[in-house]
Amino acid sequence: MCGIIGYSGNRETKEVLLNGLYALEYRGYDSSGIALSDGVSTKIIRSVGRVCQLEDKIRDEENFSANYGIAHTRWATNGEANLFNSHPHQVGHVTLVHNGIIENADFLRQKLIRKGYMFNSDTDTEVIAALLDSKLEGNNVISAINMMMKELTGSYALGIMVEHDPNLYAVRKDSPLLIGFEDDGCFLASDITAIIQYTNQYILLDHCEIAVLNQGNYQVYKNCKLIEKEVLMSDSKGIDPSKCGYEHYMLKEIMEEPIVLKQLIDRYKEEDRQKELDLSNYQEIDIVGCGSAMYAGFIGQSLIEEYAGIKVQVYSASEYRYKRKIYHRKTLIILISQSGETADTIAAMREAEKIGIDTLGLVNYPDSTIARECRRVILTNAGVEIAVATTKAYILQVCVLSLMAYVTAKNKGTLKFDIEYEEFENVPILLESVLERSYEYQAIANQIYSKESCFYIGRGIDYAICMEGSLKLKEVSYIHSEAYQAGELKHGTISLVEEGMPVLCVITDKRLKEKSISNLKEVEARGAKTIVVTTFELDDFGGELKIVVPVVNSFMQTILVVPVLQLLSYYVALNRGCDIDKPKNLAKSVTVE
Ligand code: GLU
Repeated sequence: MCGIIGYSGNRETKEVLLNGLYALEYRGYDSSGIALSDGVSTKIIRSVGRVCQLEDKIRDEENFSANYGIAHTRWATNGEANLFNSHPHQVGHVTLVHNGIIENADFLRQKLIRKGYMFNSDTDTEVIAALLDSKLEGNNVISAINMMMKELTGSYALGIMVEHDPNLYAVRKDSPLLIGFEDDGCFLASDITAIIQYTNQYILLDHCEIAVLNQGNYQVYKNCKLIEKEVLMSDSKGIDPSKCGYEHYMLKEIMEEPIVLKQLIDRYKEEDRQKELDLSNYQEIDIVGCGSAMYAGFIGQSLIEEYAGIKVQVYSASEYRYKRKIYHRKTLIILISQSGETADTIAAMREAEKIGIDTLGLVNYPDSTIARECRRVILTNAGVEIAVATTKAYILQVCVLSLMAYVTAKNKGTLKFDIEYEEFENVPILLESVLERSYEYQAIANQIYSKESCFYIGRGIDYAICMEGSLKLKEVSYIHSEAYQAGELKHGTISLVEEGMPVLCVITDKRLKEKSISNLKEVEARGAKTIVVTTFELDDFGGELKIVVPVVNSFMQTILVVPVLQLLSYYVALNRGCDIDKPKNLAKSVTVE
């Protein structure tokens, strides 16, 4: 979601900003723009669509040489994705870029119109620019920003330029922003990937702190007072721009699953290390996340309840943050987020921390807010995921939760069968064999890609698998798809099943197999085109199409099934000619509520 990059220094400003925008593309956006200043005048260039389209426009301005500037990829929240609404916005003396949402923008806009301001866009961002401009008269910029902040409600990370002022300004509330620096230049960025090719030294801006950047110098102010900030070092490798011969990052990242899975399983080989995964001290667990992270939570719920006997509830972070929470003394909240910057998950974490409940973050990015603020953190270390639809990071979230269920069950003595940790070490090899059969999934994708609607059905943990499979299909192919508990479909929704509609049924749970088969037959009787993804080789399920995945212990079975559904979604999207790595309307890191 929205990316901000700013630069002041001796490097070629245009190049730094463009490279930054390319590095931020993975977050998801719909338009982009840049503001360049040579200290005398400011040039703003904006474009709808991809950064390469903006680059073409910038190349037309070869002669303008800038000393500093700000740039932005926008993920529209207020006002459609068009040229007028794209950032930077300029009002009076102020030019700025914004990540976040201003909740009282309509009220402020009316107030500013009464003062004589006029607006050219539908964005809340232009309102911030006008508000700041209105505070500049008679005040220095820092005081004006402070006055502006008092009137804004909502979330914002801002990169600001003021006419005839050689400084860049940055301020944030709730949305992330950091300042990077080297000897003769300073950067501002919404995440470290935008600047890691230049520096790994940075400071994190905290709420309502204002940074002033000028060439190699920066200062940070809080309430108009100069403050010291801790310098941090990132060991992020940045984005590897190569697709390693794959047509899309999504495919590349799915194919990386066996290797990152192996690394994760190897990490916990030592019993000492397994203590990190032990949940036996808790009586109740709340798992909180959004999208795929929440669906990983449902797999965790199924396994932890089943094997470790601990009650687990799964919530979407956007609901959880506002609900009344009923905690027990021994409750743990597991917060799952690939980016570690998901706004709703961060809010849920802070609520819990306020009450004093134990929190454990499960994230992919060590530099992220959740990684820094949670009491305990487990990193998935999936490497950078560039495709907006998560694949390998989800698999590792599931793997951590599965290992938690296993270690806790073993420690509590609730495991009713023998299984040694070594058995998990075979899973990455089995996963490789699953991925090698991608031609099978492609053949099925060829048969269903033209459909407009689809159901995924399953029971128990198979239903949790369906939720992720169905989401993946929606995300990348735009086919309407719903996951249903197999037994629930006939209580209303079966009325939508019609001749030729694909219904994909996941059957891995032995105890529920017969029940799921009955449900499969029910939809088949109504003309559905059924696809079964199962571990049961020999049974005759009916089912027009069948994919058999290898059997593995119940802790890890999901890890062999979901990649099949990921690949199926990928090939369906490929057939439909979709923009697979950057699906429309989606953002990788959802930093607004
Ligand atoms: N709310 C602003 C807009 O709609 C910023 C969106 C973003 O974070 O990209 O323009």
